[in-house]
Amino acid sequence: MKITYFGTGGGAGIPEIFCSCRVCEAARQNRGKDIRTRSQAAINDDLIIDFPVDTFLHTLYGGLDMRKYRHVLITHSHFDHFLHQDLFSRPQGADIPLNIYVTEGSSKQVVQVKEAREEAFATGKRIRTDEMEIKIHIVRYFETFGLLGYRVTPLRARHAANVESAIYLIEDTAEGKRLLWAHDTGLLPNDTKDYLVKEGGRLDFVSLDCTLERGNCITAGHMDLERCITMLSWLREHGLADGNTKAAISHIGHFLKRTHAELEAEAGELGFITAYDGMTLSI
Ligand SMILES: [Zn+2]
Ligand SMILES: [Zn+2]
Ligand SMILES: [Zn+2]
Repeated sequence: MKITYFGTGGGAGIPEIFCSCRVCEAARQNRGKDIRTRSQAAINDDLIIDFPVDTFLHTLYGGLDMRKYRHVLITHSHFDHFLHQDLFSRPQGADIPLNIYVTEGSSKQVVQVKEAREEAFATGKRIRTDEMEIKIHIVRYFETFGLLGYRVTPLRARHAANVESAIYLIEDTAEGKRLLWAHDTGLLPNDTKDYLVKEGGRLDFVSLDCTLERGNCITAGHMDLERCITMLSWLREHGLADGNTKAAISHIGHFLKRTHAELEAEAGELGFITAYDGMTLSI
């Protein structure tokens, strides 16, 4: 199972547009791994996780070719994870649907835009120049669905009160590998923990949110390194992770106050891989 990180930044990315903090200044100077665009990843050449504002940048500079993907899992509707407007540039001839999997709460805007466009075509207010073969699939927490050779389960995230946010449990049935994609969540809510314990089974890989400065969690909806340690320990205590489970941190904000090299050293000692834009892992 191959995981490619195209974007590993928090909501504002690094360097944040208006920020002159030490980390943002270092990113402007060093570039490379200190630049963090908004969150997006691929599982093998099959699934894309999130379609953020920086999808355009990832196709320009990050080696992402959206034309070869047919399935996109959306975690939630914040713009650093889902810029639905960019979907509607699909050209005529894109006759194989692009399937978008999203919770009902996070699908409202994209459904509205899609319906408004269809109505404009139907009433002649707009001439159809594209086929917009975009299918929206509403996913529900704790309801597993099959997709290519994967079993995918959306789980409830602890994130923003007014946004229906999911994290994803993904199992590659061909290879028998399982991963937990847990970004834009704080410590897991109880029903998600209960589900994971009841479902059981060891995870080969976890990718954890690490937006915040260590020891300074200014919100319940994200994590710092201490919360990552707590979450990984909890997974181990319940037999969901072991010494061979790889754990990465991503969705890294300038709030964290670490350059990539500093964070890699600090997190590495704790057993975490620090993701960077362009990183590929084999699990
Ligand atoms: Zn985010
Ligand atoms: Zn900054
Ligand atoms: Zn968010």
